[in-house]
Amino acid sequence: STSHVFRSSHPDIDLPKDVSLWSWIFEAPHSSLSRAGRNEIQGWTDVSTGQHLSYQDVKDLTSHLSTALTQQRNLQPGDAIVVFARNTVWYPVVMFGAVRAGAIGCGCSPDYNVEELAYALTASKAKFVVTTSDQLNVAEPAAAKAGIDPANILLLDEAATHRSRSIHHLIASVRGKPPTEPFRIPKNKTNAQICGYYGFSSGTTGLPKAVMISHANVMAQCLQVMQLTPTDHRRILAALPFYHITGVVHQLHLPVVLNAHVYILPTFTMEDMLATVERYKIKEILLVPPIIVRMVREDALLKKYDLRHVERFSSGAAPLSQEILSLLEKQFPGTGFKQGYGMTESCSCITAHPPDKYAYRYAARVGSVVASTEVLVVDPDTGRRCGVGEAGEIWARGPQITMGYLNNEKATRETYDADGFLHTGDIGCFDEEGMLSITDRLKEMVKVKGIGVAPAELEDLLLGHPAVDDCAVIGIADERAGERPKAFVVLAKGYAGREEDIGRELLSFVREKKTRHKWMKEVEFVSAIPKSPAGKILRKILRQKGRPVGTVV
Ligand code: AMP
Repeated sequence: STSHVFRSSHPDIDLPKDVSLWSWIFEAPHSSLSRAGRNEIQGWTDVSTGQHLSYQDVKDLTSHLSTALTQQRNLQPGDAIVVFARNTVWYPVVMFGAVRAGAIGCGCSPDYNVEELAYALTASKAKFVVTTSDQLNVAEPAAAKAGIDPANILLLDEAATHRSRSIHHLIASVRGKPPTEPFRIPKNKTNAQICGYYGFSSGTTGLPKAVMISHANVMAQCLQVMQLTPTDHRRILAALPFYHITGVVHQLHLPVVLNAHVYILPTFTMEDMLATVERYKIKEILLVPPIIVRMVREDALLKKYDLRHVERFSSGAAPLSQEILSLLEKQFPGTGFKQGYGMTESCSCITAHPPDKYAYRYAARVGSVVASTEVLVVDPDTGRRCGVGEAGEIWARGPQITMGYLNNEKATRETYDADGFLHTGDIGCFDEEGMLSITDRLKEMVKVKGIGVAPAELEDLLLGHPAVDDCAVIGIADERAGERPKAFVVLAKGYAGREEDIGRELLSFVREKKTRHKWMKEVEFVSAIPKSPAGKILRKILRQKGRPVGTVV
């Protein structure tokens, strides 16, 4: 039945099937490099160091890097290269260098500790890890745990002591020599079947998994977003990390396609962000809700900058309240506002605001369906397809829906159905105007500062503590972070100590073992964890729980 299928009102995108992503970005006749005059070509500028690489530079550098890695380090199509670093102008060189060779680029959080990075390297079957010398203390032991050849730990910087490991050394070693041919889509395949990137996501349940993002996924998403991008979008702020799907699409690929200039903030501070927006007269600011929440409270700071040229804000990755939106509008009267909604598994957007809806009156909604995409709203209890005004789970099908999870058939089958629909685990509802609102989350994921945290990861850790007999982790509201994890814990029989002390011990246990955004807000002691007959944790009951019955720490 075609009833209750929410379709896009935009014309279908025209997606070539036989072109590789690297060629499409850097070589195709429509690409900005082919169209723009040599001195019109934009690029990435690091605002803290002033380092700048034009898109032409990056094209040449990726050719050299992929050539050197292929000829000297046996890089093969399908191999994974993990980037463990903060945003720098060299980040795109490695990511595009990987796809140029038909290999796979995979960003991960630069805040990971040894265990977390080792997990990411193992889950992505990484052959190379690229980092900076100040992160070697984490990268080296993690690579060792994951069984990666120490010679395959590469550096983005030029540390004197590790010259042979530097990508600059590799690049210099092939300068002036003929580069290898860029990877081409094999005759019997399409670009939808070739993976170009991995992004980590826990999906609807379980531990973080490597999402396989195809060449076609990224191209499709660029075309979908371009339809909605005003022509004045010439200067782009890269305040979000390059490893997140939003960074991959909006800060790495889209700018080249648009020939827009990117201003990179290596580490986020409110002052640096505002100074960058002021100095480079950036008109559109893409942020995540926790940063917007902070910004609206910084009245005195905002007054120090001339931000009158700012025309609109853009947000995604987590919900934003009406209260915050009203404060923002008051601080920036006359500006517009837009959102995108999607997930790593949908290579960013399923819905987004079209330019005629860049207004605060629409801001709490997450936009309408992007081109060439179909959305169903499905009642999670009955499987019935819902219509306008009815809430249900969002399912989406389109060329941006990714290939599945690496080496995880089971999770892939549970999340990507046989008809090609991605089951998002989000609850939402369309209105008469075709605008979607996200109203709830069916899945386990906790969203801390826009970053997904997998409850299963914290539960696994806590179950390894002798005080814990059983536990469950959910997200609870937090003013600054949006959400933070909370653990319900059943104390192990006979474990000595006061609950207050044990609770504090568990909080610091997680602080020692996990990166900051996974730290728990609180622990509550309960006598049992509610579970289904099949043993599945009933998180809904925990989320609806009223006043605590046990001790809260
Ligand atoms: P990630 O894979 O980290 O991008 O996380 C995707 C999840 O973030 C989605 O499934 C939603 O739960 C949430 N999300 C993304 N965009 C929005 C948005 N605009 N409003 C509310 N939640 C969002």
